Amino acid sequence: MFLSARRVFKSLLTGLVAAQLAFAPMSSAHAQRSVPVVRDAEIEALVRDYARPILEAAGLSRSNIEIILVNDPAFNAFVAGRRMFINTGALLQSETPNEIIGVIAHEAGHIAGGHQQRLRDQLAAAQTMAIVAGLIGIGAAVGGAASGTGGLAQAGAGLAMGGGEVARRGLLSYQRTEEITADRSAITYLEKTGQSARGMVRTFERMASGLALTGRQIDPYQISHPLPRERIQNVQELAQASQYYNREDPPALQRRHDMMRAKIAAHTQGQSATSRLFRDTQGMPARYGDAIVTYLSGSPAAALQKVDALVAAEPNNPYFHELRGEVLIRANRPQDAVTAFERAARLDSSNSGFMQFGLGQALLAAGGPDAAGRAVDALTQGLARAPEYVTAYRYLAQAYGQMGEIAEAELATAEGHYYSGNFREARQFAARAQSRLMPGSPSHVRAQDIINQRPAN
Ligand SMILES: [Zn+2]
Repeated sequence: MFLSARRVFKSLLTGLVAAQLAFAPMSSAHAQRSVPVVRDAEIEALVRDYARPILEAAGLSRSNIEIILVNDPAFNAFVAGRRMFINTGALLQSETPNEIIGVIAHEAGHIAGGHQQRLRDQLAAAQTMAIVAGLIGIGAAVGGAASGTGGLAQAGAGLAMGGGEVARRGLLSYQRTEEITADRSAITYLEKTGQSARGMVRTFERMASGLALTGRQIDPYQISHPLPRERIQNVQELAQASQYYNREDPPALQRRHDMMRAKIAAHTQGQSATSRLFRDTQGMPARYGDAIVTYLSGSPAAALQKVDALVAAEPNNPYFHELRGEVLIRANRPQDAVTAFERAARLDSSNSGFMQFGLGQALLAAGGPDAAGRAVDALTQGLARAPEYVTAYRYLAQAYGQMGEIAEAELATAEGHYYSGNFREARQFAARAQSRLMPGSPSHVRAQDIINQRPAN
């Protein structure tokens, strides 16, 4: 289940800068931002597996670092507080696990070094759009100078107009040193985990050669990560000095990486991009991408045939059963979809909430005497693991509604509004729910929490 949604983040100013959203309206450092996120059990489990050893090596395994996948085709990654944001474009463009692990290691270096926190403080002190625009201009100008593309430097100069000169100079020197520090930290983490830094070099080279530029558009990763020549050279020398430089990713990991890329391409780039991705057109990743494209293009019968072949080849792959469940819902066979999602949930060792969301949705579609109650169980379990996934509250409200539990339905609706950032509506529904709930009950307490919430804090 590859779900695209929007998620609200408070005070995401550093993210804003890196994501080049400086033209969005923003009144203060505490502005709320809605970011297009991707939720998917398979991709999330893989990226977590990439990040786990790196975060441990960085001393961050107990820091509750949350990784958020941003639905954006540009190559980008950035951190804000304890959150690491990775674009689907970065996952798709990285041909090996090692390349994206290098990106994760670099961003972990920023978190461990407390870099972005300082940037955020500086920006909060500056608090004007001009400074933010100036910062982006600086990044673009440096990137342009490094790669020698006049257009990029010009774009940077254009953007840089209006920022305070002193603030700009301060941020520029800060940014350079912190990029170099983050690179060094990244290489240390890779070394500690027995991995090569070759992927980092490959990513840098791709950026420096200008391949990451699409037309006149500036790649946001280049803006947030200026690449002077000496920086690339440093990384290359350190990478080559390692005994692990030539170590390849384990084949099983490369396979999971390819499956992920197939899925992202199928969902975001369409058929032709997906079929161009792999040389081996009969390999599992190519067939997986083809099956997803067929499902998305709206031919459930054809998709089911392809997914059944995948399941026959790998009966214990949870994501094949998950896809099969989705196809079966579209084929109007919800009862079979229930069985498919139940299997997917059993096989999924990462215990993703998204298998439960699929199951809940299928149960609601299937109907029957105990379906609504089972849907409530599945959706509640899923939401315990992914509480900010707002669509699931709609299904939960529907399931409670079918059971005649109006107060719980209203509370679920309140939760959905709460996690969407619609605090006024959230309070309204929470108050309505509360009028029907017993004081002191867990639901009553939760409704009160929502009513008390003041989003600005
Ligand atoms: Zn960086």
